[in-house]
Amino acid sequence: MNNQTVLVTGGTGFLGVNIILELLKKGFTVRTTLRTLSRKNEILDALTAGGISTFDQLSFYEADLLSDNGWDEAAQGCDYVLHVASPFVAEQPKDENELIIPAKEGTLRALKAAKKAGVKRVVLTSSFAAIGYSIDPRNHVFTELDWTDENAPVQAYIKSKTIAEKAAWQFMEDEAPAMELTVINPVGIFGPILGGISSASLDTVVKGIVEGHIKENAPFTFGAVDVRDVADIHIKAMLHPEAAGQRFLATSEGAMSFYDVAELIKKERPKLAGKIATMQPTPVEEYTQMSHKKAAETLGWKPRTREEAILASVDSYNFSNTQN
Ligand code: NAP
Repeated sequence: MNNQTVLVTGGTGFLGVNIILELLKKGFTVRTTLRTLSRKNEILDALTAGGISTFDQLSFYEADLLSDNGWDEAAQGCDYVLHVASPFVAEQPKDENELIIPAKEGTLRALKAAKKAGVKRVVLTSSFAAIGYSIDPRNHVFTELDWTDENAPVQAYIKSKTIAEKAAWQFMEDEAPAMELTVINPVGIFGPILGGISSASLDTVVKGIVEGHIKENAPFTFGAVDVRDVADIHIKAMLHPEAAGQRFLATSEGAMSFYDVAELIKKERPKLAGKIATMQPTPVEEYTQMSHKKAAETLGWKPRTREEAILASVDSYNFSNTQN
């Protein structure tokens, strides 16, 4: 047990619940926001599956990214705020504002509440989406120095994360110079599903490939990182003195294509090969390159491999219907 209290926004989310799990294991007192308290049991079930048996250090607050209600109460008395909640969806909405408004305004609500509560540091979950979509990936190694241009024609989710992160840095400069902000920019998050809490990235890529819905390789590659390592980097970033004012790209080594994921599962989980499509590989020179050197050197962060992250997701699903 330690005496520090952390607010994690979005406890019903895949990443949010994993961060709560790690914080509770480390003895922090944890608060979490959710849109409706009626979903509290989903979080308790997931944490129980993760090995937590007493919940006296966890409390729940109702707060929606689109409303002012509940944020001040949730942040009051906290040492840190980890702002994880943001709409993350498989399908692009017709109106990009469905993602942009909650992402941006929710971030500002969390920051304002944190400032009012005298919180020491906010850690914001941004994304590789805010880094990697405006530079030609060929012959470029993406780092924290890169930014997506939100005025370029990019998908709504990419735009929402870029705008929200920029708004956060601007808020700090204009309105909260005494508070600290650290930003984590994860690539595609995979890893084990805790209880029943999955996410769009897993369902789209892993289920899509194993169940045969993805039939062709895509014209892009992506970084993959394990949710346990993304939880870990949030906590390291929350505590490390040198993390203040920094963004950290959270990726394992290398990138993957749908072809790579398909081949990995066929090789390592041959019983699931039945419905997996045969795809054309991505040429080596077309792979996105990125570096987690800054997180490794500053925070001592050592992520699992991308293969481990993907296979942990695969093993979390009940794919018995596709077994030979
Ligand atoms: P997720 O499982 O869909 O979690 C998203 C969370 O945000 C949920 O708790 C969701 O609540 C909450 N949320 C969405 N709209 C909200 C609203 N209007 N008011 C309050 N809460 C709202 O996805 P995730 O993967 O854990 O994502 C967590 C964070 O990581 C997000 O900031 C996402 O952008 C970022 N990220 C994810 C990936 C990835 O591959 N998964 C990669 C990079 C960055 P409900 O359950 O009520 O919908």
